[in-house]
Amino acid sequence: MKNYKIAILAGDGIGPEITAEAVKVLKVIEERNDVSFELLPAAFGACAYFESGSAFPHQTKAICDEADAILKGPIGLSHEDSKRIPIDEQPERGALLPLRRRYNTYANFRPVSLPKSLGHFSPLKAEVIGEGIDLVIVRELVGGLYFGEKEMGVNDAGLRYVRETLEYDESQIRQIMQQAFKLASKRRKLLHNIHKSNVLKSSVLWNEVMEEVAKDYPDVQVVNMLVDAAATALCLKPTQFDVMVMENMFGDILSDQGGGILGSLGLMPSACIGPDKAYYEPSHGSAPDIAGKNIANPYSMIGSVAMMLENSFDMEAEAKNVWAAMQGVFADGYSTADLSKPGSGVTMISTVEFGDKVVE
Ligand code: ATP
Ligand code: MG
Repeated sequence: MKNYKIAILAGDGIGPEITAEAVKVLKVIEERNDVSFELLPAAFGACAYFESGSAFPHQTKAICDEADAILKGPIGLSHEDSKRIPIDEQPERGALLPLRRRYNTYANFRPVSLPKSLGHFSPLKAEVIGEGIDLVIVRELVGGLYFGEKEMGVNDAGLRYVRETLEYDESQIRQIMQQAFKLASKRRKLLHNIHKSNVLKSSVLWNEVMEEVAKDYPDVQVVNMLVDAAATALCLKPTQFDVMVMENMFGDILSDQGGGILGSLGLMPSACIGPDKAYYEPSHGSAPDIAGKNIANPYSMIGSVAMMLENSFDMEAEAKNVWAAMQGVFADGYSTADLSKPGSGVTMISTVEFGDKVVE
């Protein structure tokens, strides 16, 4: 029997609620396969800071080091509440970025997917959705502005100022490009390279390295697109995309837009892959506005489990079952509050009920 250790970082806001549903799914997978999952819960995020004074405590680091994979809920506080935590201990700066850096999880895969049959969830018109939206954002996750130098102070003129640097070297760009091309060659062999080379020098190097890597994948068609144009195109004609590759900040913004065109951020799982370790998390934040109400959509977290099964444990068939089970709940006319607008004909169920139906 295979044994896998999974670190469970439930996080803040809706994190614990949607993590509980993902854990239910893991238990079912375990019951019917020759596999055992040892779940290792650990504190991470604002909750960890309030408990221990650190958003990413040593003990959590040790658990993550030991684990075969990490399942991570969203972290963070509301804008107002975040003022209660010193700036460098805030969950994103004090936990999320250090987690990404620790395991060098440079490749973030964010599927943006909605079959035609669920087109009613989307704010887009049926003719825009066509045969369905099915694209993957490949986001560089350990470079760029997020990991540059950061400085705040008062300048010689007595004015408050900030300085943040955006840095990539060619090896960082090459490795994310290789991941994107590899994925594109397994899918529709179409890669949109998202950049802003008319303004940013970082994009000039980005594009140069992309062209070098492209030589190894002659069967993949590359389309270069400015990030601002891509934002429009995602709304007007999302079906033109298959794999989109972009730097860290662009990926953050366009993936939230990806959630928008599907109808909810709750439909956005992701995988964050490094050379030796991977972690899995929803693409969205901790949604403090709906926390504790049993109304959050756990699809993003359960989908992250599916990505874990496939990428970390080679359990592709069970991953497919998980996706199919969630689609089945939707097909039966149920969903959580985010996707069941009045008059849409969708029956609203709670977070827990959604998890139960997936398990069923
Ligand atoms: P972050 O900066 O951490 O990405 P954000 O500012 O982008 O956070 P989110 O917390 O991701 O904001 O969520 C924005 C809104 O989307 C939430 O306030 C909530 O209403 C909705 N939302 C996000 N995730 C879910 C979910 N799983 N189910 C239902 N609604 C969600
Ligand atoms: Mg966000």
